[in-house]
Amino acid sequence: RIAKTDGPHGKDIHSFLALTRERALAQAARIDAMAAKGEPLPPLAGVPIGIKDVLATQGAPSTAGSLILKGYTPPYDATVVKKLEAAGAVILGKLNCDEFAMGSSNENSAYGPVRNPRALDRVPGGSSGGSAAAVAANFAVATLGTDTGGSIRQPAAFCGVVGLLPTYGRVSRYGLIAFASSLDRVGPFTRTVRDTATMLQVLAGEDPLDATSADIPVADYLTDLDKPVTGLRVGVPEEYFGEGLDPEIRTAIETVIAGLEKDGCTVTKVSLPHTRHAIPTYYVIATAEASSNLSRFDGVRFGLRAPESNTLSSMFRKTRDEGFGAEVKRRILLGTYALSAGYYDAYYAKAQQVRTLLTRDFLNAFQSCDILVAPMTPTPPFKIGEKSDDPVAMYLADIYSVAASLAGICGISVPCGETKSGLPIGVQLMGRHFDEATLLRVAQAVE
Ligand code: GLN
Repeated sequence: RIAKTDGPHGKDIHSFLALTRERALAQAARIDAMAAKGEPLPPLAGVPIGIKDVLATQGAPSTAGSLILKGYTPPYDATVVKKLEAAGAVILGKLNCDEFAMGSSNENSAYGPVRNPRALDRVPGGSSGGSAAAVAANFAVATLGTDTGGSIRQPAAFCGVVGLLPTYGRVSRYGLIAFASSLDRVGPFTRTVRDTATMLQVLAGEDPLDATSADIPVADYLTDLDKPVTGLRVGVPEEYFGEGLDPEIRTAIETVIAGLEKDGCTVTKVSLPHTRHAIPTYYVIATAEASSNLSRFDGVRFGLRAPESNTLSSMFRKTRDEGFGAEVKRRILLGTYALSAGYYDAYYAKAQQVRTLLTRDFLNAFQSCDILVAPMTPTPPFKIGEKSDDPVAMYLADIYSVAASLAGICGISVPCGETKSGLPIGVQLMGRHFDEATLLRVAQAVE
């Protein structure tokens, strides 16, 4: 199916950038041999899985969607890749994404855009557009994506699949090519909530190789999945239903809320008063961290090196000029500015303070409710090319996703119907830090 409909041309989806054929066949043979011997099979035995190209895979291309890493093959696997394979998964290959995970439409990939399998003239969302599209197109049963400001949840909503943002620290980032380290998280895409719970069970847990991974016990996500949600308190944040929300999406979310009430949840209105500051705060912090993280790409150690330079500094400059795309350069400039002497206090330090206020909004809300329900995106998937010349319009597409990212809480996008023209709609659930069990249980009730 991938060979037939996933090329880079015409109406193809273009979700995979590279296939790891030999690795997949070797693993499949290993699982076959175990089955033939009657050995007990691990939880993901034989399950075909795709990996976003920002995650390191030993000996296989890992480009982060960038020309600057063209031809780079890491000498090691990301912890999450290792864990999946140890659980029996068959790794199919590497998935297209926005360059260094910067984007909301997958149009910033240096290797060309991804098409939305549900509507080929529309974007799949970003930055994990390839990961969402590969699941929606049935190329893989599950995929890994990363979410810094919405990049798992928004493409899941746009492609009509389930996408989970685990709590910051729940899943290892070792082997993830960094964008904004205090925000980056790894999580799964699947077609069902149960599959997401199965994936999280494998992925979650402390990793000695990632100092920000948390030493907190991993719950049993599958046992409680079907427990009734009766008595749970559902909060509806008023700030997520303002101007700019598509009316069909509003109706779909209201239907989900009514369904939860019918299931015995109590529904209350809550307020997250600092929400309107989330986008500017996110774009200061994320670009600042990116400008620092991306300084390692200098032509010396990884990937591309521009030829014909007389001096070291002109080699640095030429390599970065040729290797980085327009959006990445824009963010390095913004972030460098926000961190420079004289501006640091006005921008970066201020953004950190507002981040604390945003986090407190959630902690206050979670005193009176167990879960928050909101729209995932303000609009259905937009047309390829529609926003690509307007970075601010593109940044505003993240309006409902970035606050949870800044606060470190967990979240999930679950399909909840479609527009009259057949475009998918996703509902967003947000839960307390490290309470993925409740989040998944409510998601299961919504599904
Ligand atoms: N769209 C957001 C951005 O461009 C989020 C990206 C992400 O989560 N990786 O930064």
